[in-house]
This record gives sequence, C-alpha cells and structure tokens, in this order.
Amino acid sequence: MLRRIWQSVMIALARSGRLTGLVQGTSVLASLSRRYVAGGDAAAGMRRARDLAAADGIRASLFFLGEYVEDRGKIAEAVENKLAVAGELAEAGLDIHVSVDPTQIGGSLDDALMDANADAIAARIGVLAGPPGGVHCMMIDMEDHSVVDKTIALHDRLQAAGYPVALTLQAYLRRTEADIARLVERPSRVRLVKGAFVAAGDIAFTSQAEIKANYRRLIDLMFSPAARASGFYPIIATHDDRLHAHARDVARRNGWPEGTYEFEMLMGVRGDVAGALAAAGERVRLYVPFGRDWWPYAIRRIGENPRNALLLARSLVS
Ligand SMILES: Cc1cc2nc3c(=O)[nH]c(=O)nc-3n(C[C@H](O)[C@H](O)[C@H](O)COP(=O)(O)OP(=O)(O)OC[C@H]3O[C@@H](n4cnc5c(N)ncnc54)[C@H](O)[C@@H]3O)c2cc1C
Repeated sequence: MLRRIWQSVMIALARSGRLTGLVQGTSVLASLSRRYVAGGDAAAGMRRARDLAAADGIRASLFFLGEYVEDRGKIAEAVENKLAVAGELAEAGLDIHVSVDPTQIGGSLDDALMDANADAIAARIGVLAGPPGGVHCMMIDMEDHSVVDKTIALHDRLQAAGYPVALTLQAYLRRTEADIARLVERPSRVRLVKGAFVAAGDIAFTSQAEIKANYRRLIDLMFSPAARASGFYPIIATHDDRLHAHARDVARRNGWPEGTYEFEMLMGVRGDVAGALAAAGERVRLYVPFGRDWWPYAIRRIGENPRNALLLARSLVS
C-alpha cells in the first residue's frame, strides 16, 4: 500500500511539466540524474555502452530521453537522436539496440506521425550492418495502460512488415498473459517488466506479491517448449534476483542455452547483480538513457522503491 501511494506521487511528479522545467533548469538533484542517466548527449551514452562492453561484456540499449511529448520540434529531435545513435552503435561494432517510447515520437499528438517515425527508425536499424550474433532492434517501451493497445498494434505492424522490432510488456497488467501467449507463437522478442505505472484492480494486479506471482507465470510461458520451437526471444527485465533465479531454472529445464534469451537491467540499479549474471555466462544488457530531459525518467525510478526517499533527500542536500 505504502509503495503504491509513493509510486503514484512520483508518477504525478514525473508528469508535471512545470516541475520538470524547474528542476531541469537548476543543478539541484544533479546527483540523481548522474545515477540513472549517462549524460546530456549521445556521446555520453556511447561512452557508457563502449565501457560496459569492454569491461564486462555487457550490452546496452540506448534511450534518448523523453516521454509524452507534444511539441513537434522535440519529437523531430528525438527521432534524429534515435537515428544518429543507431548509426554510431553500428560504427562501434555494438548491438544496434535503441529503445523508443511511442509517446516521444508522436504517440501523444498524431498517430500517423508516430507510425512514420517508428518506420524510419526501425528501417534504419534494419539496413545498418551490426555484428553477427548481435541483437539489433528497435525496442518499444511500454507506457501507461491507456496506450497499451496502440503500442501493441504498432509492434505487430512493424513485425509483420519484417522490421527488426521488440516489445516491452508489463507483468502488473492482467491482459499480459494473453498478449504473451499470442506473441510466443512467432519469433517475437519480448522484454518483460513489472511495470512502472499503477492502475485499478480490474485491469491490473495491485500488490507486489500478485505482480511477482504473475511475473513467474509469464516466465514459464516465455520459456515454454512452444516458445523455444517458434524462435521466441525472452528478455527478463527486472532487478529481482528471485525472478532471475526462476528464469535461469526454467531455461535450464526447458533446454534454453545461454544466449538464446537475456537479462536486462537499468543503469544505476544493482550493477553488482548485472556483473554477477554476466560473469556466470548469461547475456546481460543495461538500459542506458541519455539526454537533457532526465527528470520524468529519474523520478519514476525513485518511485519504484520507497527506500529511495533517502536517495531523493540526499540528492537535495548534496
Ligand atoms: C530494462 C528495463 C526496461 C524497462 N522498461 C519499462 C517500460 O518500458 N515500461 C514500464 O512500465 N517499466 C519499465 N521498466 C521498469 C519496471 O517496470 C520496474 O518498475 C522496475 O524495473 C522496478 O522493478 P523490479 O522488477 O526491478 O523489481 P523491484 O522489486 O522493484 O526491485 C528489486 C530490487 O532492485 C532494487 N531496485 C529496483 N528498482 C530500483 C531503483 N529504481 N532504484 C534503486 N534500487 C532499485 C531494489 O533493491 C529492489 O529490492 C523497465 C525496467 C527495466 C529493467
């Protein structure tokens, strides 16, 4: 209950345009942005991606920050950054893995614009030559429940057109089991997260225990023999080590060797766990955000754990 209230307050702060302008215009809370964000530009994101690959063999998904954008200039800037960073990843010989929020490329303003921008990014990734054996794709992030239908339709359209695309689905939503059951029948790539939003009990699981139980059921589905046969690619995106252990256990039992699935975590959260998984031979990726629009992203991360109240307080006085 406490967690739900805390998370709802932080989500409201993330959506406040006035607060975003105020915070991002000052150096207050800069330590918060440093923890969760690689830096203000693509060069900083690329530096982090290269360092991760060189030090621990950890892969990256680069994310130019921005969400729920309604300004056409900012939407164009987001698309330019996604295209540019895809090219830089290809040149560096790294996975061409670019995360995209539909509402940052037009989804909050004009669906035709979102579709055209998504096509452009996915097509660019498709023609760039990434290293063989790499995972090259436009990863579609999932936002609040009001845009889930639209986001899944976007993924399905791009997948049917043969573009390299992947989709994030959220274990807190009751519908996700049916969505995954459909997607495991073909060689889809699905990143499973718990969900950084809250919703009413008729559409969502509202307690952590229920969300974790559903996450375990969804792991079973994603690592099922049928999923293995279709060429499905499971992406376990959580910092919860019990869920990591469950995924590894089911993978072993159902004949999924390392490298046929991956773990993905957020930059700034439990780097020790990411390192340990990589050292154990697992494929690991970090989500590496960059850009100036860091407040909504960082405050959402703070909302994920009431214990982060201390981190927020420390950032205010440092
Ligand atoms: C790669 C990736 C992509 C994501 N994309 C999306 C998306 O598209 N849509 C969406 O709704 N959500 C997304 N999320 C966020 C996700 O939904 C959860 O809100 C978030 O991962 C926290 O849940 P958890 O599974 O890590 O488990 P938790 O139970 O919250 O965390 C497990 C442990 O990890 C640590 N921890 C977790 N989060 C933090 C934090 N922020 N700061 C400090 N410590 C922390 C704590 O020690 C905690 O005990 C993404 C997460 C990842 C890893």
